[in-house]
Amino acid sequence: MSRHPEIEKRKTFAIISHPDAGKTTLTEKFLLFGGAINTAGAVKRNKANQNTTSDFMEIEKQRGISVATSVMGFEYKDKRINILDTPGHKDFAEDTYRTLSAVDSVILVVDSVKGVEEQTEKLMEVCRMRNTPVIIFINKMDREGKDAFDLLDELETKLTISVCPQSWPIGQGYTFKGVYNIYGNQLNLFEADKSKISEPVIQVKDLHDPLLSQYLQEKPLDKLKGDLELIEGIYGKLDKEMYLEGLLAPVFFGSAINNFGIRELLDTFIDIAPSPHHREAEQRMVYADEKDFTGFVFKIHANLDPKHRDRIAFLRICSGKFERNKFYYHTRQDKKLKFSNPMDFMANDKTLVEEAWPGDVVGLYDSGNFKIGDTLTEGEKLQFKGIPSFSPEIFKEVENRDPMKTKQLEKGIQQLTEEGVAQLFVQQPGNRKIIGAVGALQFEVINFRLENEYGAKCAFRPLSFSRSSWITASDKKKLQEIIQRRASHISYDKDGNPVFLADNDWAINLAKRDFPDIEFHTTSEFR
Ligand code: GDP
Repeated sequence: MSRHPEIEKRKTFAIISHPDAGKTTLTEKFLLFGGAINTAGAVKRNKANQNTTSDFMEIEKQRGISVATSVMGFEYKDKRINILDTPGHKDFAEDTYRTLSAVDSVILVVDSVKGVEEQTEKLMEVCRMRNTPVIIFINKMDREGKDAFDLLDELETKLTISVCPQSWPIGQGYTFKGVYNIYGNQLNLFEADKSKISEPVIQVKDLHDPLLSQYLQEKPLDKLKGDLELIEGIYGKLDKEMYLEGLLAPVFFGSAINNFGIRELLDTFIDIAPSPHHREAEQRMVYADEKDFTGFVFKIHANLDPKHRDRIAFLRICSGKFERNKFYYHTRQDKKLKFSNPMDFMANDKTLVEEAWPGDVVGLYDSGNFKIGDTLTEGEKLQFKGIPSFSPEIFKEVENRDPMKTKQLEKGIQQLTEEGVAQLFVQQPGNRKIIGAVGALQFEVINFRLENEYGAKCAFRPLSFSRSSWITASDKKKLQEIIQRRASHISYDKDGNPVFLADNDWAINLAKRDFPDIEFHTTSEFR
């Protein structure tokens, strides 16, 4: 059965990387190709300074930028490309993980000098959890980086994924001459140029084409031939099915800042990357080409104007067609809602959306109806899966500093954690509120926003916990047993699931030994 052309033409993905590998630069080059922006430098760098954790201006700036660049859509070669932006700062990694639940594939940028970094590994783990297809772009080939073969080995061992190079560098750093496009049999010669999109592309039949020797000297050409022979032997041809199943990553080499190797990447991407297909709900599988509309909220953004409490909920459309002013069913709240001002956030502005298709993301003005993970349908009771919470590493207890503003504090904490700024855990007895976050910056954000948006004041009392695991057991009695015997380590997450808090890995392992019937999970996605 052929699918609707509007679905088929959509490619919704995220560009991810360890900070500074070149994500923003690559995004910008893609937008240039798509004509969505005209000049380099138009994409705001979406990151707070990595070293300042208390610069509130940076926090505000980051929030402003991240709403403006939440989704960058453009048309390229008859395809509709949606790039979902992810924050650069590691303290906002959870935001990135959630955004990854709303894409159909990713491009992972790796710095050729630094190779696989900490955040590269973590992001890849998240992709692997849901078998997201990954294309890898090795950036900064204009610098004296690691050897290309070594980089491929490093990817395979550290990221536990098979790789298959689709372009290959000729030289590197000072001697970087260009890339050979294995996928399209083209030679692409390097000419550093940051401002315009022009590259001499030489189409060749294969490696024996005499044209090649007109452009490359004997030595680099021989090396290229030798390399490619080796590649053919080791990696073979690209197995697209394996790529689509998330088992194999095609790899490209280039230099984003010099606009080099980008077209190969983009052209192959639109050729092989998946269009919206299907998505798992708790009740059943939902296919993109079903007639009825479905979608879910993966990100909530507070209004930047503190006087207005409304927020923007970002909805990923999974099936059917979304229409403005039509009533949809909010399955968690069991009520109907319609949206008169759904927004499309493009690179430089926002526009009103009349209709949107699977793969698209629309911004919905929300006065408090949505939580991350909420599902909208045309009436069916569905709940999409796959928006996990990850176990935080820093835990602090909330202490109210202004008893006159207790209500505001409660509301603020509730809303900010619903927005996904950090996770809220409640401990009994006494309803102790514990905030768990991935990074220190989140506590600053919460403090700042509580005061500015809710007029509440709080202090955070550091706790000794640094690990947490959601706990389950098939035998409910066993679950009760650990809850009672380890009461001071038990808290409950936003959905009332029990979570075991521990000081370190050793304490977790001890608990695992003492309670062999309990399963410990590092993400909330264990159903
Ligand atoms: P992000 O943190 O991953 O978004 O990285 P950016 O796109 O902001 O790039 C980080 C730094 O690397 C910036 O100073 C870029 O100018 C630089 N950069 C990006 N691409 C290249 C490249 O191909 N070669 C070199 N030498 N530098 C690059």
